[in-house]
Amino acid sequence: MRQVIVLCTLQILLAVVVRADVQFDRYFTDATIRVDYYHTGTKGEERFSMDRSYREGPWPGSRTRLLDTLNLGEFLVRVYDQATNVLLYSRGFSSMFQEWQTTDEAATGAYRTFEETVRFPFPRRTVQVTIARRDKRMVFHDLFSLTINPDDPTMVNKEKTTTAFPVVPLMSNGPSTEKVDILILGDGYAKDDMEKFRKDAEHFNSVMFSTKPFSKHKKDFNVWTIEVQSDESGIDVPDKNVWKRNALGSQYNTFGSARYVLIADNRRLRDIAASAPYDYLCILVNDTRYGGGGIFNLYATTYTKEQNEGQRWQMDYVYVHEFGHSFAGLGDEYYGSSTAYNDFYPVGIEPWEPNITALLDKKNVKWKDLVTTGTELPTSWGKATYDSLEAERGKLDRLAPDYYTKREPLQKAALEILKTPDVVGKVGAFEGAGYAAKGLYRPSVDCRMFSLSTVDFDPVCSAAIERVVEMYTK
Ligand SMILES: [Zn+2]
Repeated sequence: MRQVIVLCTLQILLAVVVRADVQFDRYFTDATIRVDYYHTGTKGEERFSMDRSYREGPWPGSRTRLLDTLNLGEFLVRVYDQATNVLLYSRGFSSMFQEWQTTDEAATGAYRTFEETVRFPFPRRTVQVTIARRDKRMVFHDLFSLTINPDDPTMVNKEKTTTAFPVVPLMSNGPSTEKVDILILGDGYAKDDMEKFRKDAEHFNSVMFSTKPFSKHKKDFNVWTIEVQSDESGIDVPDKNVWKRNALGSQYNTFGSARYVLIADNRRLRDIAASAPYDYLCILVNDTRYGGGGIFNLYATTYTKEQNEGQRWQMDYVYVHEFGHSFAGLGDEYYGSSTAYNDFYPVGIEPWEPNITALLDKKNVKWKDLVTTGTELPTSWGKATYDSLEAERGKLDRLAPDYYTKREPLQKAALEILKTPDVVGKVGAFEGAGYAAKGLYRPSVDCRMFSLSTVDFDPVCSAAIERVVEMYTK
């Protein structure tokens, strides 16, 4: 009897899967559509305007899980079949624009424009695309809406996507529609640096897949590389007046922060990336200054040249940390370190990031199911001592030649606090997260999103990562 029930359940499951696939074929072809638009504004004000759409290669995402149920990201793109109003696709994401809105420059009322992209399966008939943003209660409201007729030649560019650069698979585990596809691109690698790029891609990829929980899910990922060649070695370092003709246009000093590496030239990046299947982009930057960046569903960047041999592990830390932002929307759990943001997390508002809470309702903390039995919320830890060590570290000049020598004892003592036996491995609510020493809490005393160390992700971040893996592989 039991076996019959199991069989029936299996049949129902199969029917659901098949139906979802039929649904895909009914509304979409096998290709991808890329919609580029401009996002313009200042603090408290924004506008969107259409640029152009492109037909790209095969759709690399899931064909059965088209709707995003994770509720992550500042923005949400939704695609509706225009004739029937059926919601066909949705995906949460974040943007450079929203980060820029929290800078001093935006606070002066200056206006800026950023290029952005959304991608979804290529529709068979006219679709309506909307972009929504969260309000302060975290509820989404539509800000932009456009109609795309896939057969309108003035609307969709159908040139074949090609690139002059070789596309090389690094890790292949199955069809793209059933795997998470990561695409690694190099920036600032000149002709003679290509061997370094290949080694870097292999190195950082093996670092990622030896970090939990990625190590457990290696078989769920494909990894591709594009051997992008730049005219010159290195990338722009604006505060040092160093300017390079690097192919993807990545640069340090994003929003005035020396170590923040992002790419403002989205179209150039997307044109090159279009020749490989990808769900997520990682950009390796062939430069020496400590730095990187990661924005949810946009991309992650990492520096790949460390002058100080003893500090090479820092690049490994950065690569996986930044991927945590871009892959699972994880927030920075650290605080005390200088950033270019003002009120990144407004007081009294519960952030959407899965690993940061304002603890407005102690009984219903969002990672309630993972809290270690008997753990008090908030959870006490050696914060006062940790803060005094961090304050000392904060006074050091990051770019000074003796920075590492001076930093080491302070860092060592701070890391010791994070290894205190009565808090290690516990899930609770530890005060200090999201750039704020007070009022925001993280799930564990330490995590890849907290300390500058190669520690694994904590249980809450790991669960968030696994939910994303599932969305791309089922
Ligand atoms: Zn970060």
